[in-house]
Formats: sequence, structure tokens, C-alpha cells
Amino acid sequence: MKIGSFETDVLMEITARPPAVFVEGKGSWLVDHRGKRYLDFVQGWAVNCLGHCPPEIVKTIATQAERLISPSAAFFNDAAIGLAQRLTRLSGLERVFLASSGAEANEGAIKLARKWGKKHKDGAYEIITFDHSFHGRTLATMSASGKKAFEPLFEPKVAGFPKAKLNDPASVKQLINANTVGIMLEPIQGEAGVWAATDQFLRELRTLTQEHGLLLIFDEIQTGMGRTGKLFHYEHAEIEPDIMTLGKGIGGGVPLAALLATETAACFEHGDQGGTFNGNPLMCAAGLAVLGEVSKPELLKAAADAGLFLESELQKLSARHGLGEVRGRGLLLALDLKLPIGPVIVAQALQAGLLLNSPQPDALRLMPALNVAREEISEMIDQLDAILTKAGAARRIA
Ligand code: PLP
Repeated sequence: MKIGSFETDVLMEITARPPAVFVEGKGSWLVDHRGKRYLDFVQGWAVNCLGHCPPEIVKTIATQAERLISPSAAFFNDAAIGLAQRLTRLSGLERVFLASSGAEANEGAIKLARKWGKKHKDGAYEIITFDHSFHGRTLATMSASGKKAFEPLFEPKVAGFPKAKLNDPASVKQLINANTVGIMLEPIQGEAGVWAATDQFLRELRTLTQEHGLLLIFDEIQTGMGRTGKLFHYEHAEIEPDIMTLGKGIGGGVPLAALLATETAACFEHGDQGGTFNGNPLMCAAGLAVLGEVSKPELLKAAADAGLFLESELQKLSARHGLGEVRGRGLLLALDLKLPIGPVIVAQALQAGLLLNSPQPDALRLMPALNVAREEISEMIDQLDAILTKAGAARRIA
């Protein structure tokens, strides 16, 4: 396919991409190869927590690039130690392994749990995960995921991931046996369409894991870094996991992720885990700049307030168009469309210069920058209102 002067066929065809080549971004706005501007409520799939090209990250990357880019993951570097220190202080989890993607961090979490089972639980290796969950696209993380579309792919899968039902403690209890080493979940299932575990369910899992001597693993790749109005989602439930993974927002747009664990769970030995780019100073410096901003109480409060405003505006929009519920927390929200019109709405929004996401055909997911302005939320709502009005009129005519 040719888009403008760009031959896009050189890239492997792994997903349907719209016919725009993005060349610039600032805050909540993206610009394509024709100079067309888009209001971005996708933000790299909840990645750009401070918006596109925020000055804090731009300056930090430029300074770090002049100083040190990559000494080798086999050596210490100051940026990685600085980031890990900050993460441990903020999370209460004592050890960090720095990675480059969410799937890599989750793969590490799975390996860590299995190692812990080998050392402390007679080789127990099963990790209970959940229907409709999403943990990444490596073979083990696809196996851990409860996404139906993954089921027929790349067989045989990695064994040892029995699936329970979200918010159903009995379905979890029923799966616990001598081989169980842990329970792993996203506090809000983002890719599934923004379905939240209740705080009560999270607390019950904490109690259950303590009773059975199991590890509680939170995949906070989407919910972490202020996305739900607290730095880490588990703070809402007032519990702490034994292992947590972070990705997406932690780099504010650069490839960075982290696997955090309590001192007792962090049982890797030499040779168990590693990778060329782990703790890369260029990425870690960016991560430190992001954390410096996102951990500020005023930013978290502004994100929580923006989330409430977006939620109430979406509820009004839903009432006007006879749509369904608004789900989620903070700035990770979904609008239930009641009908499988999500892809059509997303395509029409793109035409109108608005970037939206439909993780499931009957839902829109909204995940703007944490510092999104009220006027930008109102502008998005106005545009979506117009698109829904047109879609409603088309349905009535049909
Ligand atoms: N876990 C969750 C909850 C996610 O939402 C994602 C990505 O969407 C991942 C893991 C995988 O992260 P990555 O795409 O960086 O590998």
C-alpha cells in the first residue's frame, strides 16, 4: 500500500492500520503526513501519560543521549539504579528488573513465580489467570491470557495457566491445588473492554493467596502509573501484591517496562533472567522523568478529576444517544455502545480528526494523557456526539 510517498508494504502486515502516517505529536495532538491534525484519545494505547513529546521527557532524553546510551546490561548504570530506587520507594516492593515491553515484564513475572515455586513450594508452577485477560504476545503471556481469539493460535501453548472468572472468588478457590504457585490478574481488564476487578475481589485474592502461601501478581501494565487516579491501582484496594509489572505509561512513550517483587519473591539466580536492553540508561532516564511528574500529588489529583469529568460527560452522551454504561476508573474508561458499531465509530472519528479505540466491537475505550485539558475532553465529546448522531440517523434510515 502507498500512503503519500510512503511504501508501507516493507512493514510486515500484522494488523489493519488506517491510511495515515504520523509524523509529529504534541500534547493531545498528532499530525499525519498531510499535515492533518488529530485529537488523540488513544495516546499509544495508554502509553503517553504526559501526552506526545512532553518537554520533561524530550529534554531528559537529549541530555542522557549526550552522556550515556548503552554501557551493557551486564554493567550497572546510574539511570537504572535511580529509576529502580524511585520505583521501590513508591511501591513498597523491594526489587526491580527493568525490561523493554509489557510482555517481557510479564514473561519475567511468570518465570519468577515458577522459580519461587521450585524453591519454596515443591515445584508448584501453575498460575491461575482469568477469562478474557490479556498479558502480552510472547508464547507464555499468550498462554496466560484468557483471550478467546488466542486459543487456536501457536499450539501447543505453554501449560499451567488455569482460568478463573473475574470477581468470582469461588471460581478461583476451585482451581487451587498442590501445583498452584500464584494468581495473576489485571486489576482492570483493558483489552477485554475495560472490566474492573472490584476492590473487594482484590482484597479477597490477597487473603486467599496468604492463606494458601501463593504469590499475588498484578499486571499493572495498563492500570499503573496514575492511569486510574492512583500511582498504582492496588492502592485503591489498600493491599499490596507480591509481584507487579509495569509498562506502557512508565516510559511516557519510550519502550520501558518493569517487573517488581518483594524481597522474598525476588528469587532469580544468575542466568535465570536478562536481556541486552534491560536497564538501558536512555529509557531509564526517560522513566525517571516520567515518574518525577506522575508521582506528583497534584498530577494524580488532576488525572483523577479529569477522569471524573470525562466519566460524567460520557454518561450524558450515553443518555442522549440511548447507549449503555460507562465503565472503568480514572482515565481508563469505556463507553458501552450496546451494538457492534465500535469499528465504524472509530473509522468515522479518524476521518473527523479524532483518534479513538474500540477494544471490543461494542465498546469504545478512552485513555487520554493524564494531563488532558478539560477543553480537549469537551472537544472530543462534541466530535463523538456528532458522529453518534450521524450513526443514529443512519440506523434509523436503515
Ligand atoms: N498486560 C496488559 C494489561 C496490557 O494491556 C498489555 C498491552 O496492551 C500488555 C500486558 C502487553 O504489553 P506490551 O504490548 O508492551 O508487550
